[in-house]
Amino acid sequence: MSVKVRFAPSPTGKLHVGNVRTALVNWLFAKGQGGEFVLRIDDTDLARSTPEFERGIEDDLRWLGLVWDERHNQSKRFDRYEAAAEALKSAGRLYACYETAEELDRRRKVQLSRGLPPIYDRAALSLTDAEKAAYEAEGRRPHWRFKLDGRRVSWEDLSRGHAEVDTASMSDPVLIREDGLFLYTLPSVVDDLDMAISHVIRGEDHVTNTGAQIEIFEALIAAGWGGRVPGFAHMPLLVGADGQALSKRLGSLSISEMREQGYEPIAIVSHLGRIGTSDPLEVGESIEALGAGFAFSKMGRSPARYDTADLDRLNAQALHAMPYEAARPRLAEVDADLGEDFWNVVRANLQKFGDVVEMARLVRGPVVPVIEDPAFVATAARLLPETIDAGAWSVWTEAVKAETGARGGALFRPLRLALTGQTHGPEMAALIPLIGRDGIIARLGSVA
Ligand code: GLU
Repeated sequence: MSVKVRFAPSPTGKLHVGNVRTALVNWLFAKGQGGEFVLRIDDTDLARSTPEFERGIEDDLRWLGLVWDERHNQSKRFDRYEAAAEALKSAGRLYACYETAEELDRRRKVQLSRGLPPIYDRAALSLTDAEKAAYEAEGRRPHWRFKLDGRRVSWEDLSRGHAEVDTASMSDPVLIREDGLFLYTLPSVVDDLDMAISHVIRGEDHVTNTGAQIEIFEALIAAGWGGRVPGFAHMPLLVGADGQALSKRLGSLSISEMREQGYEPIAIVSHLGRIGTSDPLEVGESIEALGAGFAFSKMGRSPARYDTADLDRLNAQALHAMPYEAARPRLAEVDADLGEDFWNVVRANLQKFGDVVEMARLVRGPVVPVIEDPAFVATAARLLPETIDAGAWSVWTEAVKAETGARGGALFRPLRLALTGQTHGPEMAALIPLIGRDGIIARLGSVA
């Protein structure tokens, strides 16, 4: 069976690390097996969906490298959902209900007070035509519920192993609201069938849904709808570094914000693709390489820990390993003259790519030298070698040491402070050839 998966975001907000992890795991699973990745925009809720959010989702996915092979909008497929609803009505699986939200709420409270589970009592199933007509005459519009079989629905979950949901313990789900809106449940099933989705991969918060949706898949197929029930994988959810569920904080972890903060896409996908798995939390060579190494068997059952400190570490790792060819166009955006030597010296000191601006300033100035002992610095300036090459730093510091007797921190610290104005930074041996002899003299000489 060929692998075809879908990522189905609702364009009612920005992508955050939670839904991007779902997108990514779908992508890695499919691409690792030469399969296809479908982007399906779940925009049946026309009032809450916006074209801006939709564009934002696409921009974020493209930026992360999660390219799709097919793309659909649910809002363009209402005729299919209508047809599916008709098929379910004919099969006696979709029935009209007229209760108001308040009525339902009251019944739930009564059930709870009697110690009963708050499950819809199916009162609407016994409405006569006359009673329905009376409701309609009152101006009520029906909402439509799917009649569950009330059995143990089971499947072999790629992530959880054998999974079961008892649909007898659930209310018949509402598929169509009284205003005609198709809720997510039915369109999702229709699309998965029509698009020949082989695997539905999503968070474990959807496990109960899956029980109901498998019944809908089967009901449609029994009614002659083409296609087959897909396989399922429900991933453990993300928790923060503190072990608490991330769900409430996800709003502040949007991909667009992370992009603005200067994170590398490869760091984000390496992090999200590997947390909660047995793979080491290291940056991958490419998203394709991550796909080749992906397997659900590596994914544990416990929640995946999302820790910004890990992401920061992977981001620095990605920069330290970035070859000049990859950095070149981005360096050119900062300054046309930042070449390969510059990159090879500074990359080990970068946390974010944007730090190159500060590194470029260290090389070219302006730098405000910090000179605590002018006599020492003047001596050093006098001993500066003629040629500032890769070996110049050790020749120079040996000479300064021989003349002044300074060693260790007492030798290196004042030179670094005078040349960069800072106590820490790139390796001086590599930095001084970039600064050049004139630059060095200018900084040391500013004492005199
Ligand atoms: N739009 C749904 C969601 O974001 C899709 C869930 C699914 O993958 O089926 O929750």
